Parts: sequence; structure tokens; C-alpha cells
Amino acid sequence: MTASPLVPPATIAFLGLGMMGRPMAARLAGAGFKLRVFDVSQKAVSDFVGAHPGALATASAKAAAEGADALITMLPDGKIVRQALIEGRDAAVEGLQAGALVMDMSSSNPVDTQKLARDLASRGVALLDAPVSGGVKRALDGTLSIMVGGTAADLERVRPVFGAMGKTITLCGPAGAGHTLKALNNYLSAAGLVAMCEALVVGEAFGLDPGTMVDVFNTSTGKSNATEVKGRQFVVPRNFVAGFTTALMAKDLRTAGDVATHLKLKVPNLEQAVAYWTAADGKLGKGADHTEIFRYAEMLAEEEP
Ligand code: NAD
Repeated sequence: MTASPLVPPATIAFLGLGMMGRPMAARLAGAGFKLRVFDVSQKAVSDFVGAHPGALATASAKAAAEGADALITMLPDGKIVRQALIEGRDAAVEGLQAGALVMDMSSSNPVDTQKLARDLASRGVALLDAPVSGGVKRALDGTLSIMVGGTAADLERVRPVFGAMGKTITLCGPAGAGHTLKALNNYLSAAGLVAMCEALVVGEAFGLDPGTMVDVFNTSTGKSNATEVKGRQFVVPRNFVAGFTTALMAKDLRTAGDVATHLKLKVPNLEQAVAYWTAADGKLGKGADHTEIFRYAEMLAEEEP
């Protein structure tokens, strides 16, 4: 028998109230879902509950999971997701009821996701990997692109939950397919951003105005997500406040590289991107926004040949 779709006021446990988790959970609260929230940062929890008094603050992943119909993780990476769900102290599986469904919306490593799906299934819990694209702005608007890995039946069960956070919901394939597509998407996104930044560095040195360059790219064949939503907004004014860190982008590229390695494929441009972003992460320092890759491109350009 197919379980009926989870509609408001079903209860959702939400783990991870960071740059993305906060606005995504806010969309669920706004749609009428009951929330049980947890983050290792107590401030993140109290800020969220302060802004959404209907949400319940909890003190562990297990406590958040108790009585919930479904659970969402929006955590930095798959290792942390596994800790929160299974391996850590007061892990969510200890609180989840049989038949509950977990959605890992973090950008996790798909090879780990496949194992996680098997381990959760052995405890009667289904997993969908459902990473997102669109950044903080589209999380606030509820217009994220959601890439789903898992079964069609499980997706139909939580479609109303995803519908509160995203505009495009795509079933990409079985467990791990969503996380694979997300990592590959971010490879394209990162490559486009570096290309724009290097073009700006060269153009500026020649005497071109960076704003004019971005405007011309946007009406020409060089147009990309980077030129359209990052150039004029974050790079040209040098405010670097896109809300996604260099560390997380470097992690996503390593994930894409790991998938290629796992499949024994040689992809030299991707390998270069992994090395470039990992080095940039080391150089730019903790918490640097991914648009600060422009500063890294400037540093490299000024190195002695
Ligand atoms: P973030 O670092 O801002 O937020 C992560 C949150 O998880 C933090 O509040 C942290 O305290 C919390 N946390 C860490 N370990 C925890 C644990 N064990 N239990 C509970 N909470 C814990 O990161 P973010 O930018 O919100 O990104 C989250 C995920 O979404 C990442 O996988 C990232 O790659 C992905 N993503 C981010 C963006 C973006 O624009 N920021 C866009 C798409 C996807």
C-alpha cells in the first residue's frame, strides 16, 4: 500500500539551521508544517525558534526525530550526516519511528549515500538524497532546484514537503543519484565562476571596466550563472556575500572527483578544478565566501612567473 503524502500539519524534524537550513526550514514553517529543530549551534536554534515560535527547539538529533513523520538534514557534508543520523551520540535513528522517511538535502558524497540508504533501510527507515541548487536567495524564495535520488513512491510521499522549498523537483535515479548530479552541477558552476574571475583579472589589467565586462558577457555567448547572478552582485562590488563558502564548494568538487575516481574515469579538467579550489580554500581562510575565488585569481595572477 502506498503511504499518503505528507501534508501540513505533518511533523518534520530539521537538522542544520545554517545559511541554507534556516530559510528552508522557514519555508516549511510558513507552509504550516510542524517543526522540531536541532543544530549543534544553540544560537542557531534559539534564533530560529525566536523567529518561528511554532517550531520546537530540541537538544539532540534523537530528540528532534521523536514523533516526527519525516526528517531533513541540511548539514555540511555526508560524514556529518551519518554521525547525526546513525553513528553519533543521541543519533536520529534512536528517535525515529518505523516508516519515517529521511531526506538528506545536504550536498553529500553519493558513494556514502548509497551505504547510508542500505543502513537506514535495515532499520525500517527510507532515505531520499535531495540536494538543492539556487543558493540562499532561492532558499528564501522557495524556488530551489531539488535533485532527488531514491524511489518514485518515496518522492510522491514527500512531494508537498519539497514543494514548500523548491520549484523544480527532479527524480534523478536511485539512491545517490541526486548527490551525484549536485556535485557535477557544482563542478560546472565552479568552472564558470573561475572563468569569469580570470577574464575579469585579465580585462581589468588591460584597462577594461569590470562592470562593463559583466554586462557584455550577459548579452553575449560568455553568459553563465556566474556572470548573471554573481558578477554585478558580489564580485564587481567586492562584497563577497553570496552565502556559500569556498570550503563547501571545494568539498563539492572533491565529491565530483571522487565519483569519477570511483568509476575509474580520467577527467583532467575536473582534477584541475579540485586542486584549484582545494588550494584556494587553504589560502583564503576559514569562512571565505566562494565568490572570493576572485581574490584568489588575483593573487595567482600577480605571482612571479
Ligand atoms: P552552514 O555551514 O551555513 O550550515 C550548516 C549547519 O549545520 C550549521 O548551522 C552547523 O552548526 C550545523 N551542524 C554541523 N554539524 C551538525 C550536527 N552534527 N548536528 C546538527 N547540526 C550541525 O552550511 P550551508 O551553507 O547551510 O550548507 C549546508 C549544505 O547545503 C552543505 O552540504 C552545502 O554544500 C549545501 N549547499 C549550500 C548552498 C549555499 O548557498 N550555502 C547551496 C546549495 C547547497
